Amino acid sequence: MIRQAKTQPIGVIGEIGAWDAMTPDERKVFRAVAKAHRATNLAIVTHTNFGKGALEQLDVLELAGVKAGRIAIGHLGGLNDDDATPKAIARRGAFVGFDRQGGPGDTRQVKMVMAMLDAGHAANLLFSSDLSTGGSQLKRNGGPGYSKTLTVFMPKLREAGVDEKTLHGIMVDNPRRLLAFMPKH
Ligand SMILES: [Zn+2]
Repeated sequence: MIRQAKTQPIGVIGEIGAWDAMTPDERKVFRAVAKAHRATNLAIVTHTNFGKGALEQLDVLELAGVKAGRIAIGHLGGLNDDDATPKAIARRGAFVGFDRQGGPGDTRQVKMVMAMLDAGHAANLLFSSDLSTGGSQLKRNGGPGYSKTLTVFMPKLREAGVDEKTLHGIMVDNPRRLLAFMPKH
């Protein structure tokens, strides 16, 4: 990973996956990723199975020396009516990835985003479409396309009362803060 990061134009280490409760091998991979982060300073983006094991992922990375502000825990919008986990991750200073937006899960995600904003966690939110690779979501196949977070999901947040300044912070400032880094060579 370190060799790849130093020889190719890589901007982030991800997405690093685990399934439910982490297995010993998954923990080993996360520790290796932490090592690669310490050698390169690249941010880390993870995959959870609809949010399961999210706090454990953060635990393993932080224990291995990664600062929470350099970590985004992914797919947390898949948690069913669980506000506690995303809030706990934000309180610890890591980014909360709400993704797979612009589809049937939007109603639930709008609710979760509003709960995070009410709790003062706007600076810890990251959005993305996590477009499925099957092809049916592409515009040329009649789908909403890669831009669906902007074109489908964000209008729903505006309708729910989220102002432009907050949306700009989430869509521009937050990813910039996560992704900006001073490369170590
Ligand atoms: Zn994933």
